[in-house]
Amino acid sequence: VTQPGSSTQAVAQLAALLGADCVRTDAGELAPLLVDHRGLYHGNAAALILPRSVEQVATTLAFCNAHHIGVVPQGGNTGYCGGATPDQSGNQVIVSLARLNRLRNIDPLNYSLTCEAGCLLAEVQRAAADAERLFPLSLGSEGSCQIGGNLSTNAGGTSVLRYGMMRELTLGLEVVLADGRVLDSLTGLRKDNTGYDVKSLFLGAEGTLGIITAATLKLFPAARSIATAFVAVADVQAAVELLSRLRNHSGDRVSSFELIPRLAVELTVQHIRPTVDPLPGRHDWYVLCELTSPRADEPLDTVLEDVLADAYTAGLVQDAAIAQSGREAESFWFLRENIPRAQRLDGESLKHDISVPVAALPQFVTQAAAWLASHVPEGRLIAYGHVGDGNLHFNLNQDPLIAAEKFLGRADEVRRAIHALVHEFGGSFSAEHGIGQLKVGELERYASPVELDLMRAIKLAFDPNGIMNPGKVLKGS
Ligand SMILES: Cc1cc2nc3c(=O)[nH]c(=O)nc-3n(C[C@H](O)[C@H](O)[C@H](O)COP(=O)(O)OP(=O)(O)OC[C@H]3O[C@@H](n4cnc5c(N)ncnc54)[C@H](O)[C@@H]3O)c2cc1C
Repeated sequence: VTQPGSSTQAVAQLAALLGADCVRTDAGELAPLLVDHRGLYHGNAAALILPRSVEQVATTLAFCNAHHIGVVPQGGNTGYCGGATPDQSGNQVIVSLARLNRLRNIDPLNYSLTCEAGCLLAEVQRAAADAERLFPLSLGSEGSCQIGGNLSTNAGGTSVLRYGMMRELTLGLEVVLADGRVLDSLTGLRKDNTGYDVKSLFLGAEGTLGIITAATLKLFPAARSIATAFVAVADVQAAVELLSRLRNHSGDRVSSFELIPRLAVELTVQHIRPTVDPLPGRHDWYVLCELTSPRADEPLDTVLEDVLADAYTAGLVQDAAIAQSGREAESFWFLRENIPRAQRLDGESLKHDISVPVAALPQFVTQAAAWLASHVPEGRLIAYGHVGDGNLHFNLNQDPLIAAEKFLGRADEVRRAIHALVHEFGGSFSAEHGIGQLKVGELERYASPVELDLMRAIKLAFDPNGIMNPGKVLKGS
């Protein structure tokens, strides 16, 4: 919308097309949707559109395309890169998928499920479990993020090691294109080599190519045996070696393997009740690992115990607690999942969602930690996360004795140094959180010119008027 007053007119026209109930302008209702989860971005919007059907999404996009109105798709608004926050012009509209939340079909024999984009991840996990199946995507935000957001960010989480990211868990998609046409690619096929895999372009596109309205997702046999341990390891190298041993000796039953540094345990115990430190002593590094099997009679506890005992003898492991009950396992996970909250409660943080090849991770951590220790006294390193995927949230928390502005003033320099080192190690500056608006500059810096050309060509082909989530992912889009 470029003319003064035209956004008011456009909103009125949209309300006439969709029904007043689908178009909201109340400031109180819009307020929480105008700021991202981390509070980094604050935007404005002409309206919130709440479609109830795919047809209403199509009508909305056809209208916005014809009138060159920017559209910001929004799921649970838990993203870490400001992808779901509109700009400050007040001319864009937010399209929330919250009311497109039906489970359309579950097919236990095909090991697949079809649901709408507004379903919460936790609801999809539950629906799979009710059919004695597993939908393995697992994130700390699963109670509030939506499948559409998971698809659009190609979400990762704590079981990627075994099951892959959202892209690998997707069989089919239904997408409304920028001009309002519907791409019906909701297939449950495991094999389909018929030309370009067009639907895969929407996975990880962060709403810049179209709006995903439904997906067919892969299911797996439900886990019937589970063994969980909280393990103190000598260092990051020991963690990587322990993972390799566990994969080998368990017949690849490892479904999660999360690295946790001492400071993360301390902050979580300090800020989040009722967190308990699972081990009596103090250790620099821990891993939370979980083995699962679809067989009810698999002695995973024994396998875990044997591997940990051997690793103890080899000097890799310093201490370990194997969960004796589901409750104890939950308390280990409670600690892990609350690290981001504890970080937030402790003060400001500088976050880097990086990945390097798994085997290179120990060397990367050593070099990056040494640089931070000598150059950034204002911060305390909390490097935690999905070590089995080579992905760490390489975060720095404000030293409580240092003023927030002074600490935050180092952000650009720290990001530059860490991302440069990641690049040297052949890694990625955005392993699982995407680009949004936060990392547009980094994509420009690190993607090759050929890759950027192809991305721009794809954007132009799918969204020639540039209405889909303008300014996200690609600079100047
Ligand atoms: C406590 C916590 C833990 C987290 N842990 C992880 C983790 O382990 N791994 C991980 O990968 N992420 C994690 N995240 C980040 C976040 O939860 C994920 O990125 C999630 O996939 C976002 O889903 P959402 O529904 O909230 O999407 P939103 O934040 O609403 O949107 C994200 C992006 O997708 C676009 N979008 C949303 N819905 C659609 C749609 N239907 N069609 C097209 N575009 C759409 C938006 O425009 C935006 O660009 C975590 C976040 C929190 C708060």
